[in-house]
Amino acid sequence: MIENLNNRERTHSCGALRTEHVGQRVTLMGWCARRRDFGPLTFIDLRDRDGITQIVINQEKAAAASTKAKEIRGEYVLAAMGEVVLRDESARNPKLSTGDIEVQVSEIFILNDARTLPFQLDAAEDALAAEDLRLKYRYLDLRRPQLQANLRLRHRMLLEINQYMDEQGFTQIETPNLIKSTPEGARDYIVPSRVQPGKFFALPQSPQIFKQICMIAGLDKYYQIARCFRDEDLRADRQPEFSQLDVELSFATPDQIYQLVEGLFARIFGLVGADLQTPFPRLSFAEVMRRFGSDKPDLRIDGMELQDLSERLAETTFAPYAAALERGGRIKGIVVTGGASMSRKALDELQEFAKRYGASALAWIKLGDELSSSLLKALGNDTVVDLAGIAGAQKGDAVLIVAGKSDVVAASLGALRNEIAHRENLIPENVFKPLWETEFPMFEYHADDDRYYSMHHPFTSPLDEDVALFERAVNGEKELFGQIRAKAYDAVINGVEVAGGSIRIHRRDVQSLVFKALGMTEEMARARFGFFLEALSYGTPPHGGIASGIERTLMVLVPTENIRDVMAFPKTASAQDLMIDAPGEVDAKQLEDLHLRVQLD
Ligand code: ASP
Repeated sequence: MIENLNNRERTHSCGALRTEHVGQRVTLMGWCARRRDFGPLTFIDLRDRDGITQIVINQEKAAAASTKAKEIRGEYVLAAMGEVVLRDESARNPKLSTGDIEVQVSEIFILNDARTLPFQLDAAEDALAAEDLRLKYRYLDLRRPQLQANLRLRHRMLLEINQYMDEQGFTQIETPNLIKSTPEGARDYIVPSRVQPGKFFALPQSPQIFKQICMIAGLDKYYQIARCFRDEDLRADRQPEFSQLDVELSFATPDQIYQLVEGLFARIFGLVGADLQTPFPRLSFAEVMRRFGSDKPDLRIDGMELQDLSERLAETTFAPYAAALERGGRIKGIVVTGGASMSRKALDELQEFAKRYGASALAWIKLGDELSSSLLKALGNDTVVDLAGIAGAQKGDAVLIVAGKSDVVAASLGALRNEIAHRENLIPENVFKPLWETEFPMFEYHADDDRYYSMHHPFTSPLDEDVALFERAVNGEKELFGQIRAKAYDAVINGVEVAGGSIRIHRRDVQSLVFKALGMTEEMARARFGFFLEALSYGTPPHGGIASGIERTLMVLVPTENIRDVMAFPKTASAQDLMIDAPGEVDAKQLEDLHLRVQLD
């Protein structure tokens, strides 16, 4: 029988009681996480967001409560009144914050019942029910203490951000969600207009243009915890809608932005007891790619940096290597400390792994008791010994080598570095290694449509010393585009890009040049960004900013590899909300109001 709450009130949460409460009469409310029936004694683990308290219902002391307790099933909602008592020494549970006590129940009320759950809530992290099922019943999955803890950490992080940004003199300004497309490199979500037939809003991929307009408006120091929407192929660390701390300031130098963000991250990481060392080391994009093969290097991994072996092989007659060098490619290797003991099977697996990143082969040298190498026959003993030496390998180590186009060599060895570190448990826990990555290329070439795209976004300023180069590139020397560096920077912690931004273009003429470089005619630029170009011509201060992904940062803090663990209502990898079953169809009438007809092909 379901009973009313009436005017009963909780005295404590289910995580609050300790030995000092022994003897007190309390009222707890929560869910039945587990019930154990020992005839005259019934034990219930009562759970709320704060923890679990064991309550005991003794038939002799509380006959009516005991009868009721027999009806209670998992996830029933209960109110229990009783006295806090010390548990027997042998019955104490050190894993529970309330494990020294229990509540001897005198009265119990069943406030609601519950159907049998579609999955178990207390399964171990590695034995959880299928994620799709948990997403459909997200409200149940969210009852798990780990997810509750993540959401509370998220809340504390947002509070800390607001506090810090206020202390630094920033004003939180909300920008609209129904806007015109802003180009951040992904596809827009679009919203049809009812009042303007045939016209559409776009949901912001970020508030980029608005925050720059705030600078033109003289607001000087802007921030916002903004919701962003990007219709792109989802990966483990992406969601179609996510939050970012978005920041912009006037008269900004990169140094000011680095210090602002370092101070903020030190505070945020302090929430989990971590002491983040500032200032963060600064490395150029070129150096990071050369040494780690990835623009998101995990600096917790000691060594395993890419070593260039190309020079030693300049005269080689080994066809695949000679061809790679002739085409302007490289031959590089990484040293796996102690890797000489790697089995053939392990090497084969790594070979397959490297191929996923485009490598045509993965060669190896093992400095075991005897030298062995997949290259011995092709290159001969002396060259192989030399290569191992150049790579910096010692006895007992292995060298893994990839040849080919520079980007393929970097991508495959960079990924191998992470993979081996994971497999061999070389990544220390509870360690946070940040860096600033600077001097990104301004443009990147896409072979599929033979044109250059902004690497960051089209509002990023070129480095002052590269402006002349940029002008030459726009005026016909296209091959120079790849050499222009931007005033762009990323913050990376533990291999995760946690923030990215740039100093912006504040001159209308330079902004027009960038649009031209991106293949926009003057008419196209005017149609899409006319308002912005016009705004730039009314006294725009130099300015710059940054954005930091809330979910990405939380993933590092928790830590978790799954972005859905740090947001309340995430979507699946196919951009669906399984709980509310969205996206869904709409009524014919709604479509008519919006002047739309659906045609599926
Ligand atoms: N708008 C950029 C982004 O969302 C960040 C920035 O440049 O501030 O990634």
